[in-house]
Amino acid sequence: MGQQITVTAMVLSATLVGDYDRRIVLLTKERGKVIAFARGARKTNSQLLGACKPFSFGQFTLFEGRTTYNIMSAAIDNYFETLQKDLDSIYYGLYFCELCDYFTSEGVEETAILQLLYQSLRAIEKKTIPLDLVRCIFEIKLLSLFGVGMQVFSCVGCGEKNDLLYVKEEEQGLFCKHCGAVHKARKIEESTVYTLQFIISSKLSSLYTFHVSDTVLHQLKAITKKNRALHIEKKLKTIDFLDN
Ligand SMILES: [Zn+2]
Repeated sequence: MGQQITVTAMVLSATLVGDYDRRIVLLTKERGKVIAFARGARKTNSQLLGACKPFSFGQFTLFEGRTTYNIMSAAIDNYFETLQKDLDSIYYGLYFCELCDYFTSEGVEETAILQLLYQSLRAIEKKTIPLDLVRCIFEIKLLSLFGVGMQVFSCVGCGEKNDLLYVKEEEQGLFCKHCGAVHKARKIEESTVYTLQFIISSKLSSLYTFHVSDTVLHQLKAITKKNRALHIEKKLKTIDFLDN
């Protein structure tokens, strides 16, 4: 016998199945990633027509069968309509959803990652900081929440807390002025170090509140690019949109 459950979730992706159905990947607060089917969701009179699209955030009532979930109904709080009016914003949003899909698992509580995704889509909508900076912040925080973030408060080589001026992604962190050369690490600006420390230690609600210089942004992009190569093994579908 199955049972009915209600979860708070965001739709990460929706693919077509058959003539009228959709297969939905949900990031839920309660059960991590959940794959669910929305029967008849593409019929024009379906209550699920709008709900079962990427970015829809709200309460989903699911019927939990032996092997699959079916979406019974949804009460959407936020469709991120402003984001959906701009093509660049949509690409960034879909990319963030795909990264969350990649890093999350079924049956694991993923509240922080769901909150990060929500705040990041809000940052895309608000446009108070540039989208490429939003992307850097999102990626650095995501890896940190996922447990593969960089060590940015002390030297990876010796534990020194001051004069951290070098980075080496392969060693997952920063190096002090003495160890940097020994480990063939790359020199970065002091303000890039502060930015990394702020992103990793800051609450999710204050993540998207600062601007950086062009030099710092350039260095953050180089760091996130290397980290993607190190931590993401498959080719993401949405990455070409952003990088071309
Ligand atoms: Zn050191």
